[in-house]
Amino acid sequence: MRIPLSKPDITQEEINAVVEVLQSNILSIGPKLLEFEKSMASYVGTKHAIGVNSGTSGLHLLIKAMGISSGDEVITTPFSFISSTNCFLYESAKPVFTDIDDKTFNINIDMVEDKITDKTKLLLPVDVFGQPVNIKEYMNIAKKHNLKVIEDSCEAIGSEYDEAKTGSLADGAVFAFYPNKQITTAEGGIIVTNDDKIAKVCRSLRSQGRAETGRWLHHEQIGYNYRLSELHSVLGVTQLSRIEKILERREKVASLYNNRLRNVDGISIPWIDCKVNKMSWFVYVVTFDEGIDRNKVMEMLSEKNIDSKPYFTPIHLQPYIRKMFGFKEGDFPVTERIGNSALALPFYTNMEECEVDTVCDVLKDIVSKF
Ligand SMILES: *Cc1c(COP(=O)(O)O)cnc(C)c1O
Repeated sequence: MRIPLSKPDITQEEINAVVEVLQSNILSIGPKLLEFEKSMASYVGTKHAIGVNSGTSGLHLLIKAMGISSGDEVITTPFSFISSTNCFLYESAKPVFTDIDDKTFNINIDMVEDKITDKTKLLLPVDVFGQPVNIKEYMNIAKKHNLKVIEDSCEAIGSEYDEAKTGSLADGAVFAFYPNKQITTAEGGIIVTNDDKIAKVCRSLRSQGRAETGRWLHHEQIGYNYRLSELHSVLGVTQLSRIEKILERREKVASLYNNRLRNVDGISIPWIDCKVNKMSWFVYVVTFDEGIDRNKVMEMLSEKNIDSKPYFTPIHLQPYIRKMFGFKEGDFPVTERIGNSALALPFYTNMEECEVDTVCDVLKDIVSKF
């Protein structure tokens, strides 16, 4: 039996809920979407929540709603899933990458202000692996320089930093629900914001630019089909109703790992900032000391039927990004060092203690060989 990298936590409750929607005759644009949006807004504490068919779609709509366009500069992290950069490349804006902190793996916020030019329009920090950024500080910088802030919280639903929930204070934020995320809708995402105008534009653009009156086939601008179906929405409603238990369970799995790997030579366990009141664990990522070949470790784990993956491959070194902007190795040394030494281990809500034991025993044995 292989131990997978991740696994969704789907119960009979989700299955029943989806079947019920299938029998209801309303498969899209219906009550489940509204219910999902309402419970999400209430969970995060924002005025609006707008369901969309992926996290990437949500980020793209926020970029559109904030008027980010050709030539505008966006300050963001090269250590992320590609989507947090793609979302503004769609609008021909330019990435201004900022290197990361080697403990939290989030943008080194001390370096942000130096990157601001008269073309900067947006700060786009990412809550990497569930660890929330210091959003209050980003909002202060943005206010001082008249910028907008999008928080990519796709990996961090439910995390809290300095008493604030992720996604609750930015101009707009997005959560994502791909099956490896803390809660899933199979595919899906949600935009949260307190800004009426941003919410209105996002709602219109997700459904072909339809006017707010919802008059059938009346369109005010070019839009998209980024809608979230009723099947996906009801999955979201059910998963969100169980989120406290899910996050608690993931915290437990992370602490099992921490206890077993804390004192192992050559391995560093995740480091959580002391201002994080609540950590919503997305993945469990360790880094290896120099001299331990991460790719070889991954191969050896695989031979023992344990899946693992490098998280992340730096965005500035992706072939098309290099070609478009001329980035090269050495441009963001911390990002590259972490990118070369980080490995995500199997991690999911229902991971058993004995599975964590197996992974840790095998990993310790492998690392001792270097
Ligand atoms: C998951 C994720 C997204 C959104 O991904 P989708 O597959 O489009 O839902 C965006 N940013 C980050 C950092 C993510 O991890």
